[in-house]
Amino acid sequence: MTAQDRIAPEETLDPADWAEARSLAHRMVDDAIDHVSSVRDRPIWQEMPAAVRGTFAGPLPQAPQQLTAVYAEITANLMPYPMGNIHPRFWMWYMGAGNFTGALADFLAAIDGSNLGGGNMAAALVDRQVTDWIRDMMGFPEGSSGTLVNGGSMANIIGLMTARNAMAGVDLRQESVDAMPQPLRFYASDQVHACHQKAMNLLGLGKRSLSKVPSDDAFRMDPGALKDRIRADRDYGTRPACVIATASTTNTGSIDDLSAIADLCAEEGLWLHVDGCIGALIAIAPDHRQLVAGIERADSLALDLHKGLQAPFDVGCALVRDCRQHRQTFAEDAEYLQKMSRGIAAAEFLHDYNLDTTRGFRALKIWMMLKEHGVAKFGRLLDQGIAQAQYLTGLIAREPSLELMAPTVTDVVCFRANPGGMEEAALRALNIEIMLQLQEAGIAAVSDTTVKEHHCLRVAICNHRTRRADLDLLVTEVLRLGGPRATTCAGTTLPA
Ligand SMILES: *Cc1c(COP(=O)(O)O)cnc(C)c1O
Repeated sequence: MTAQDRIAPEETLDPADWAEARSLAHRMVDDAIDHVSSVRDRPIWQEMPAAVRGTFAGPLPQAPQQLTAVYAEITANLMPYPMGNIHPRFWMWYMGAGNFTGALADFLAAIDGSNLGGGNMAAALVDRQVTDWIRDMMGFPEGSSGTLVNGGSMANIIGLMTARNAMAGVDLRQESVDAMPQPLRFYASDQVHACHQKAMNLLGLGKRSLSKVPSDDAFRMDPGALKDRIRADRDYGTRPACVIATASTTNTGSIDDLSAIADLCAEEGLWLHVDGCIGALIAIAPDHRQLVAGIERADSLALDLHKGLQAPFDVGCALVRDCRQHRQTFAEDAEYLQKMSRGIAAAEFLHDYNLDTTRGFRALKIWMMLKEHGVAKFGRLLDQGIAQAQYLTGLIAREPSLELMAPTVTDVVCFRANPGGMEEAALRALNIEIMLQLQEAGIAAVSDTTVKEHHCLRVAICNHRTRRADLDLLVTEVLRLGGPRATTCAGTTLPA
């Protein structure tokens, strides 16, 4: 050691002045409450001025500055320009609106600071308890296992990887997919979420191993066509391995016939994975739970708590019926991670059920939300979203210049403005223009999609702040922008 090393002051990231930190933190909480409680009074979204955008292009900070100054940048340049999904009129793609208790929980989780890779601490018990609660909400039996992950895409990967390893015919923890006696085939409807293609890529099976089964007029997988494909693939020498059923498709909110598909999987000896990222939680909604009857028969299930439970991002969950198969797929031994009979390592490693090592304390927000409100309220909120979607569907049906584009089954509504006499391409341009003008004016956020080759607007009501009056406003504004009287006006702004 040199003399200089000996005298170098030791540093920490803790505040130099805790009293100052306390007062700034209190201000942040006050500002946060104002921000959330007044969200309805603000535009849902606004374009960032170039000067604001420019502030995010600065160089790596070298010199320190006061945290109050950093926070001032946040209030000026970040908080006014959110995506908008906490706003009551955000219905774009499919998200949740978050909630204040969940936000507090994320803060407290970081303060507790535990690494949920596993260990003998209270946070690990909370993680376990939350996955047990989710298992119970979904009607999965004891002896099934669950793991919290960052979202639905990862939850699907966990389920599909377990399915692949269970069906491979070789030990894929030791061997490559080339060693499988037969190539595996997975099946899903043509409405399946794109994350499954990523998963097939990751699992070394390739997109071509995912057979897209046609959907019927109600956008549900056709079980007859599924059966034919399974038979044909067997005859061809491939191994039908897994059916991915979707409980609430991203495009239209349709739900595959889970009971029929579960019967077929049982008959044919296939793994049933349900992508329930949107709809699995309908199982707790008293008025609509029959829509997902049979979901409890899945071998694995992916669901999203930042959607249906409206937890702040990010948190999803994978459940696997047979906990041994689940653990066998992911547990690896490491000399530096040995379980002890006493102390901090005297507990099961929670990362033995997923691809992570370090894991954040996502469980706390779910734990606090469920304790505060009770599970029944979340079920009612899901029913409320579906009832609002039906309400919007009724408004659309009354307007001759609006056209419903898919049956409304859950909380997704597909429709378009169609003032009459326009070609498909012009209708598409008109509806895209309506969608963009609604966003740019800060009125509402809807997305678009294509169903059965028709472009349309898509309203996904996974938002506990939405009121029916918000949907009235949406219809009024769509009519103003795209209705018969406004056609020429909107028409002049159409892209060439
Ligand atoms: C949202 C969604 C996903 C992906 O979930 P993330 O949480 O966004 O990763 C997968 N499948 C379906 C049906 C979805 O709606």
